[in-house]
Amino acid sequence: MMPDTSIRTRLILAFSVMLGLLLIVAVLVLQRFDALTVSMHEFVDHKARLAFLAQRANQHAQDAAIQLLRLLQTPDRERRVPLYATMDTAMAASDAAIGGLERAAAMMGARSDIGRVIELRRHYGELFQETVELIEIEGLPPARVHFETRTDPTLKDLLGETLKLADYQQELMQAEVDQLEREAVNARILVMAISLSAFLAGGLLAVIISRSIVRPLREAVNVAEAIAGGDYLCAVPKGKGREMGALLRALDVMSNSIASREESILKLAYVDTLTGLPNRTRFMEVLARAMQQGPGALIVLDIDRFAPINNALGHQVGDRLLQEIATRLGKTVAGHQLVARLGGDEFAIVLDGADRATATDYAQTLLERLREAMLLDEQRLDIDASLGIVLYPEDGASLIALLRRADLAMTVAKRRHDGFAFGADVADEPPHEQLALIGEMRDALARDEFVVYFQPKMDLATRRIKGAEALLRWRHPERGLVPPGRFIPFAEQTGFIREITPWLLKEVVRHAAHWHRAGLGVVASANISTLDLLNLDFVGHVQQLLLDSGLPPGQLCIEITESALMDEPELALKHLDDLAALGVKLSIDDYGSGQASLAYVKNLPVNELKIDRAFVDQVDRLPKNAAIVRSTILLCRELGLTVVAEGAETPEELHWLTTNDCDVVQGYGIARPMPAEDFVAWVEHFSSSPMPAHTQHRCTPTTCST
Ligand code: C2E
Ligand code: CA
Ligand code: CA
Repeated sequence: MMPDTSIRTRLILAFSVMLGLLLIVAVLVLQRFDALTVSMHEFVDHKARLAFLAQRANQHAQDAAIQLLRLLQTPDRERRVPLYATMDTAMAASDAAIGGLERAAAMMGARSDIGRVIELRRHYGELFQETVELIEIEGLPPARVHFETRTDPTLKDLLGETLKLADYQQELMQAEVDQLEREAVNARILVMAISLSAFLAGGLLAVIISRSIVRPLREAVNVAEAIAGGDYLCAVPKGKGREMGALLRALDVMSNSIASREESILKLAYVDTLTGLPNRTRFMEVLARAMQQGPGALIVLDIDRFAPINNALGHQVGDRLLQEIATRLGKTVAGHQLVARLGGDEFAIVLDGADRATATDYAQTLLERLREAMLLDEQRLDIDASLGIVLYPEDGASLIALLRRADLAMTVAKRRHDGFAFGADVADEPPHEQLALIGEMRDALARDEFVVYFQPKMDLATRRIKGAEALLRWRHPERGLVPPGRFIPFAEQTGFIREITPWLLKEVVRHAAHWHRAGLGVVASANISTLDLLNLDFVGHVQQLLLDSGLPPGQLCIEITESALMDEPELALKHLDDLAALGVKLSIDDYGSGQASLAYVKNLPVNELKIDRAFVDQVDRLPKNAAIVRSTILLCRELGLTVVAEGAETPEELHWLTTNDCDVVQGYGIARPMPAEDFVAWVEHFSSSPMPAHTQHRCTPTTCST
């Protein structure tokens, strides 16, 4: 009903109808009562007048008759004179009343009963006159007889007729009253009927209007509640009427815009803007869900040598490279599997339901796809990546443990240049022990539980000990000697390394100064982390230590891994320049395991490059390692860098390195890291021994570690 009428119009219409009905009721009631009043007045006037006139005529006729009786009993003529006067007055009054009656009768149409009264009255008047004349002409007795026989019976007739007329008028009046009563009842019924219909019409209108307003309002409330509950797809009804239609349309628009806004917020929160892949947050959520649903594999992927590419070719090319990699990754997985970008050049893939065999197959395909040459800005790029693979639930119950293990496996794969490694094959500390170690680290420093070991670096040409690398150990009261690999990564993560490094540097400088004073000619190397290199106080701190100890800056070497240069390359480079300006030696550690290229290293103010242990391992037997080490040695020579081979263990490796012109060697093949107290004695012993015998240091329980 009234589908497109506005609420305002509907209300105005409804109230108009109501008021109209009430007006009609009022007018009708007034009219009815007016009519009743008029007819009542008319009736009363007329009937009362008739009755009054009849009674008056009677009354005066009777008065006259009484005078006539007196006259009949008054023989003295003189005394009859005044009686005549009174009698005449009474008869005249009676005549006047009769005249009135006559006129009324004429108005009402000749009424027989009134006519009869008038006729009788006239007849009586004549007889009355005859009686009076008889008194005066023939005397009282004949007059008396005439009165009794003629005049008095007529008077009685007249009185009887008048009474009848009065009775009749009474009856008429009663009938008239009955009629009026009936009319009043009818009027009441009419008024009640109209009031009732007005009431019903009003009620009906109220129901219709409230329905037409309330129902769509309720629908609007339902829609609003659904939207509030996050259901933006709920069907919004069309809505009738202008206002409700507008309200529901507004709700529809609102829910759509909230939905699209939420979608874009979700996108911002969950999508990596560069590659369009899910980001770390989304990845964590999906992995958590996948871990609950059943077994599967998680792969963490890190692009090899991404930083130098980024640095050399610019960030725009770097971004395009990441996008291309994202596309390639997307193509290798089935639709329901997740590929995410964790940040930087790190990606992750979740393979639902995969076991070791399928994960291996997948990893191989993935690497093949990534290794296909890429053309960016007409530059050909060869990309490689390292993958860490873990299987859940067996490799870790928690998300964090799983990710950490995958990261660890990835680092191992990178170090070994193996393409991928499984978390299960990588030694790892049970998580609760790691937590315990993290908690105890702070106390360890206060309780002097950290100790510095030194591992000699031997010059292959002169067979002299040219340097020693300081390697941290934790002499734990219960666990014994804890190697740095088990606590340094956490110290770096928690920032505690910022407290360890100053302590270590102080120790290293103290020992180096002692060696210097003893004329040992050994340069002490210390390892530092990213956080140290980026620390604004670091260079000043080193300078102060050198000043306080009197150690010539050239007797101290600082080893940095290339990853330490990648977080904030500009600040890192500035600190390297400042350190170089102090005269401190700088060394690139673990070369080959990361992303640094020699082209990148040559621009750094470094003196030394340490080839990672992974390449020195079986260098005499593995042509691939031999090729890498040989070319690195040659390039270092060109660039004027001292090259150090790390982790040389066997005489064959040492021999290969000697014949291939490696400058310096550090490894168990010369000596294991040893406590600082043993170092001077060891060097003196080494120098005084005949050469070939010293190529392999024999361990004693006190000098050996790891
Ligand atoms: P790195 O700087 O590469 O140190 C060389 C590691 O190789 C040492 O392990 C050393 O014991 C080991 N190594 C040397 N020769 C051989 C060998 O012939 N065969 C084998 N298998 N291993 C050999 P370590 O002492 O366990 O240190 C591990 C890593 O911990 C170090 O790697 C370094 O990255 C870090 N680290 C050690 N001390 C410190 C420190 O004081 N500060 C910081 N920031 N890191 C440290
Ligand atoms: Ca080192
Ligand atoms: Ca190293």
